[in-house]
Amino acid sequence: MTSSGPVSKLAAIVAIPTVSHHDQELTPAAEFDRLLATVAQLWPGVHALEVIRVGAHGLLIRWPGRSPDQPVVLMAHLDVVPVVASDWSRDPFGAEVADGAIWGRGTLDDKGCVAAICEAVESLLARGFVPARDVWLSFGCDEEVTSASARAAVEVLRSRGVRPWLVLDEGGAVARDAFPGIAAPVGVVGVTEKGLTNIRLTVTGGGGHASTPARNGPAVRLARAITRLDRAPMAARLPEPTIELFRRLAPHAPAPMRAVLGNAGRLAPAAGRLLALAGPEAAALARTTFAFTMLAGSPARNVIPATATAVVNIRVLPGDTVASVLDHVRLAIGDDQVGVELIEGEEPWPVSPYSVPGRGDEAFDLVTGLITEVFPEAVPAPYVVLASTDSRFFTAI
Ligand SMILES: [Zn+2]
Repeated sequence: MTSSGPVSKLAAIVAIPTVSHHDQELTPAAEFDRLLATVAQLWPGVHALEVIRVGAHGLLIRWPGRSPDQPVVLMAHLDVVPVVASDWSRDPFGAEVADGAIWGRGTLDDKGCVAAICEAVESLLARGFVPARDVWLSFGCDEEVTSASARAAVEVLRSRGVRPWLVLDEGGAVARDAFPGIAAPVGVVGVTEKGLTNIRLTVTGGGGHASTPARNGPAVRLARAITRLDRAPMAARLPEPTIELFRRLAPHAPAPMRAVLGNAGRLAPAAGRLLALAGPEAAALARTTFAFTMLAGSPARNVIPATATAVVNIRVLPGDTVASVLDHVRLAIGDDQVGVELIEGEEPWPVSPYSVPGRGDEAFDLVTGLITEVFPEAVPAPYVVLASTDSRFFTAI
């Protein structure tokens, strides 16, 4: 390993603790400044391109091609999530290179992509390569919290009339053992994301002292509402990209599974229900999910709360809507004493085009073709991203 090699460059940016927080006060601006200065120093050719600062510390960079038409946007993010030090066997910002790996927060999510993109562009620039079309690099600085800088990047592109041909962000992976019974690695390409919605459940009633409790107080009523909703999940079904994922996996599956996967389109309702029973990750593929978070009420051991609240963190599957989810929640709880309030509602995101038999998509085929070139044994396929990435805001352009 040389000091200028890609490994040491990635290690250098992993070592900078750019942890983003919802509370801007807690975000270490100086570390983000240091990261931007380091990126500029490690990849001087990239830094010499047109660099536009977006949001607090986001970067939008234009690498001009022979034509500005139908540009490509390559994305990554500069921030990382906070660290619980006791979960780590090595310094999370030590960026040690050991056992064939770089150890550190953000190595995979997502500074590896920052380094890979910059290194690729830098080496092509050094060779005098000019891409056929413009290539934009978009590096958000708050992907893990608000995505404000990605939204700002979208506004810059929109104001310049840029309509990307392909936007490529983090999310998918080429993974072995991701699907039971499938030996081949699967290269999943996210083509849509679930919508992130939060609601608050509130029950108000008689509080008081714990020595004289009344029955069915706010905490109990809230608990009942949560239990009812937990026992009444939304209907399971398979969105179109999941049906195509299964169709592509079918030839690689053992005989009994092959027929089910290959016919997932026709068997969609039953296959969705089966998937919903196969553990939390499989279930998340097949339905809108409810997670109960931020339970709150009593401030003391002997105080019966006058108000008890919980947040339901909901991931809306393409095909459902925020309105249909709210209807379901009210119906499942079946108690008009439980307030159901929408904190933020995000619909599932549009589905990007992907190839199915008889209907190809050039951009999707380019990505899957590259997967097969680098990982010849992998099965490339579309899928629904269960979490959220900055790229969802680019659907606007
Ligand atoms: Zn990420």
